[in-house]
Amino acid sequence: MPEFRHDPIDNRWVIIAESRAARPGAFTTSVGWAVPTIPTEQTHAPVGTAHPTCPFCPGNERETPPEVFALRAGDSKANSPGWRVRVVPNKYPALAMELAPVPAQEAPSLFSSFPAIGVHEVIIDTPRHLGTIAELTDGEFTESWFAIRSRLHALRELASLKHALVFKNVGRASGASIEHVHSQLMATQTITPLVAEELRGAKNYFDAHSQCAFCQMIEAERSAGARLVAESLGFIALCPYASRFAYETWVLPRRHQSHFEATGDGDLADLASFSRGIIGKIERLCQPPAYNLILHTSPFDTTALDHYHWHIEVIPRLTISGGFEWGSGCFANPVSPENAAAVLRS
Ligand SMILES: [Zn+2]
Ligand SMILES: [Zn+2]
Ligand SMILES: [Zn+2]
Repeated sequence: MPEFRHDPIDNRWVIIAESRAARPGAFTTSVGWAVPTIPTEQTHAPVGTAHPTCPFCPGNERETPPEVFALRAGDSKANSPGWRVRVVPNKYPALAMELAPVPAQEAPSLFSSFPAIGVHEVIIDTPRHLGTIAELTDGEFTESWFAIRSRLHALRELASLKHALVFKNVGRASGASIEHVHSQLMATQTITPLVAEELRGAKNYFDAHSQCAFCQMIEAERSAGARLVAESLGFIALCPYASRFAYETWVLPRRHQSHFEATGDGDLADLASFSRGIIGKIERLCQPPAYNLILHTSPFDTTALDHYHWHIEVIPRLTISGGFEWGSGCFANPVSPENAAAVLRS
């Protein structure tokens, strides 16, 4: 069973999950990772052709565990073609699926561990065998966010789960092992360290300033403009002041909102169209596209929080972290967020 292990010196947690080693290591295209064509007219992407060996293509539904959610034609059967978005448990989970009470926290010892229990799901954005988000239509991307919101609503009802991280790995350099565009959702019984740190930092800022740090950041970046990438009715994209990576870009709701799953239908459509435009620009900068998209949202067991503001972080994989980054925990970014934002605005 996968387990969380704790390092008592630097307070770091890792998951030891040997089942992940059985994942297919290669992309599903027999010719390897081809540079995808990004359509210039983004609302009419070409229809992808089903790939015979892709477990996420229609006709291959039996290659995945049975679906837990799908948006599909009314006359189609579960685990058969006819779906538009499909959510399935990850076949090679980093978390064990049986839910159990969280073990009591003990004082840190040399070898602390507990079973890594939770839910690890895959959200297949489209039945079309596409490799990038820019190739999706706005309608497809809206339904994909709809499916994520539905799963978050369902999972927060399970009392033993505390938090969910949703992410996309696009392109081989990002850690993706299957080309067909998809997201992953990992819901855990504890809050993963980076989100815990964000929650702590945001709370400290709120206590000191009586304002949400993210709301203040949005206001400051809108008026200064140098790191602002774009705005829609409900969302803003910016390159954060202390960007870790070249062209790192965050997308945030302009109005304060702590939980992604509280997003209404109209805002989901706005988010899909707006974020797809921003991601399309990042995909053009990274050829072949390689980036991670991460959704940071509030824990399940909280109601609306004044101090935390959900957001999406897009991390292009243009540079590789080296000894300095691994050794210091500090990222050296070769492109200033001011220059990155200027490029992404153009
Ligand atoms: Zn496919
Ligand atoms: Zn806020
Ligand atoms: Zn974050």
